[in-house]
Amino acid sequence: MTMQYRQLGKSGIKVSALSFGAWVTFGKQIGDPVARKLLHAAYDAGINFFDNAESYADGQAEVVMGAILKKSGWRRSSYLVSSKVFFGNVGDRPNEEGLSRKHVVEACHEALRRLQVDYLDFYYCHRPDPTVPIEESCRAMHDLIAQGKVLYWGTSEWSASQIEAAHAVCDHLGLHHPQMEQPQYNLFHRARVEKEYAQLYRSPGLGTTIWSPLASGLLTGKYNKGVPKGTRLNVPGLEWLREDLLKKPGVEKRMAAVPRLAAVAKGLGTTLPCLAVAWCLKNPNISTVILGASRVEQLRENLGALDLLDALTPQVMRQLDDISAPIAD
Ligand code: NDP
Repeated sequence: MTMQYRQLGKSGIKVSALSFGAWVTFGKQIGDPVARKLLHAAYDAGINFFDNAESYADGQAEVVMGAILKKSGWRRSSYLVSSKVFFGNVGDRPNEEGLSRKHVVEACHEALRRLQVDYLDFYYCHRPDPTVPIEESCRAMHDLIAQGKVLYWGTSEWSASQIEAAHAVCDHLGLHHPQMEQPQYNLFHRARVEKEYAQLYRSPGLGTTIWSPLASGLLTGKYNKGVPKGTRLNVPGLEWLREDLLKKPGVEKRMAAVPRLAAVAKGLGTTLPCLAVAWCLKNPNISTVILGASRVEQLRENLGALDLLDALTPQVMRQLDDISAPIAD
């Protein structure tokens, strides 16, 4: 397995094609020693981007990651670390969430403190905020960059027209532009990345750091016969995710597609998680696929996706398309 590095959209930064995120796991589902093993295994495999957010485990995911980074002895220049602002983590008083200048700046300061770093490489607006003028959020991001607290800013789950509006504002006001979007992308969730954003890859040159390549585990086959103990959909507080993934319309068709996808993987001599991650990597508009894992063995298995790219011939891609395209969002 040799890590690939990809340019993040039109920016000058190089990000590992596979990266690693802390959602659900760090500070919540797994103990700190496992988190440490995972982050070290990721770094040793050449992963250079670690993804986090103010809201993950109410800030505890950043505390855990920060302590590991601090102890690791890794050169700050050798990795990229992110935070995201929007959902808040301290309470629900006005201004403790969202994309106002106040919350964007305060959340950045808090993330720097929790992660124990001097600057965030990537800082994302975790969702759009219709209650705040877009100029205000763009200028807050620009100022944090000018102060050296953030290097690149981006968005997560913004529509194409919201991303275009941010660029128009930045053009008009001479501000640092957003460089990347963090959308969901996997065999079951394709439309936004493949269709809605299609124009944005060439101009302004959108980078993409995609999340949930395994649809939270659906694309491993583990949920085809119920919800096993010790898995994400059993984690207390994630009942909403369980509802969302296992009850939403079309779920039967997705569940029925899983064994068909697993059969394609078997035919290639690999596993379904590996195949599903490799399928995401095959899309040239994806800058990096953010992996999630609760065990080191999962991470090692998924890293195998890098060795599978040549096996995904046009014929195999058509086969996967035939199975997933008709049932994907
Ligand atoms: P996945 O869809 O890949 O789900 C990861 C989970 O699937 C693991 O925690 C594990 O859960 C299970 N899993 C992974 N590999 C295997 C394997 N080989 N065999 C069996 N089970 C496996 O990714 P995430 O949903 O975790 O998303 C990745 C990252 O993206 C997050 O950590 C976060 O940084 C980011 N993200 C961003 C969002 C945004 O709004 N911007 C939203 C969501 C995520 P288990 O062991 O519990 O079954």
